[in-house]
Amino acid sequence: MPLFSIIPRDNAPQAHRIKRYFLAVGTSLLVFYFMAVVHLHGYLDLIGLQWCAAAMLLLFVLFYVLLRSGLNLRFDDPSLTSAQIISASFVTMIAAYYTKSDARDVLLPVILMCFYFGIYRLDTSRMTTLALLCSAGYGVMLWALYLFRRSDLDMHIEPLRWWILTVVLLWFALVSGHISRLRKELANSKSIMESLLERDELTGVGNRRYLTHMLAQEKNRFDRTGVPFCVAILDLDLFKKVNDTYGHPAGDKVLKTFSLIAQDGLRRVDYFGRYGGEEFMLIMSDTTMKGALIKAERPRSNIENTHHAEVDPALIQTVSIGLAEYRRNETIEDVQKRADNALYRAKTKGRNRVEIDK
Ligand code: GH3
Ligand code: MG
Ligand code: MG
Repeated sequence: MPLFSIIPRDNAPQAHRIKRYFLAVGTSLLVFYFMAVVHLHGYLDLIGLQWCAAAMLLLFVLFYVLLRSGLNLRFDDPSLTSAQIISASFVTMIAAYYTKSDARDVLLPVILMCFYFGIYRLDTSRMTTLALLCSAGYGVMLWALYLFRRSDLDMHIEPLRWWILTVVLLWFALVSGHISRLRKELANSKSIMESLLERDELTGVGNRRYLTHMLAQEKNRFDRTGVPFCVAILDLDLFKKVNDTYGHPAGDKVLKTFSLIAQDGLRRVDYFGRYGGEEFMLIMSDTTMKGALIKAERPRSNIENTHHAEVDPALIQTVSIGLAEYRRNETIEDVQKRADNALYRAKTKGRNRVEIDK
């Protein structure tokens, strides 16, 4: 593996930020090209172009070091969006200062390009602060012109430019507030959709997709750290009879009751879900067979002792459970198969029992 990569490979959020940084660098180079064209047309002094080039290079290095070293994580906004916008506006002000009065307008769209980077990330109050800072920066630039380059200060047009720039930037702030609200709503809907995709509709517990996901996660963890885990498959006994005797809705109630009972006493690192039909799965993280046996015994005895008052107080529902501990180098399907074999043995040995894979 190379000692250093320009974009980190092992940290997705940081990699994303650095990619955005390169987008900003690309945009800055385009802006520099605009400035060079303005210079070639005789409207921007060479010294101004040189100052801009020096400032840009310095800022490129500074932001890259901040982002790549992880120092950016100490800030409220680790993407450093505000700081990058302010820096880019500052460079544009340098160019504006060295540009002839007639041509200063051509630099104003450049400031809007800088603010574009904030639209999708910053809320109205931050963007308003940036807009006011940028407006103040323009004011300082005009003040410097007044002091040192009065010949390039046209007092008829400049107040108008300043005013329009300020209003347009404040308008950007309003729009960005609207966009950041939309983004939040979208992110919320996405997380709701994702959680729905992994929920079982009837019982509210995780579904097969969720269980497959968690199994993969546990296997990866085992491969990396060797932390053991066990898989239990729980199958309600003679459940068809419940449906046949009391009807399907009553069967649904028993399934819901079992889902509740089976989650009793689970830790945050145990994952329970409905695998399908009247079959459930419990994934016990950081657990060897010894602990899993004790843990699997709990839902078995709990459901046996539950009174199904809403269905029939005389109903005794039981569950059979097959257990397997994950073995190095086997697939997720292998461990499930072994738990299934153990379950089969529990069924043939008379049901209402926990069997382990041998
Ligand atoms: P065994 O002890 O061997 O597991 O017997 P069993 O009757 O539980 O097994 P079988 O596979 O023959 O029957 C499972 C039953 O589970 C049949 C099916 O109608 C019922 N079932 C599956 N999903 C649902 C559901 O969502 N709601 C209800 N009420 N019943 C369901
Ligand atoms: Mg079954
Ligand atoms: Mg069954």
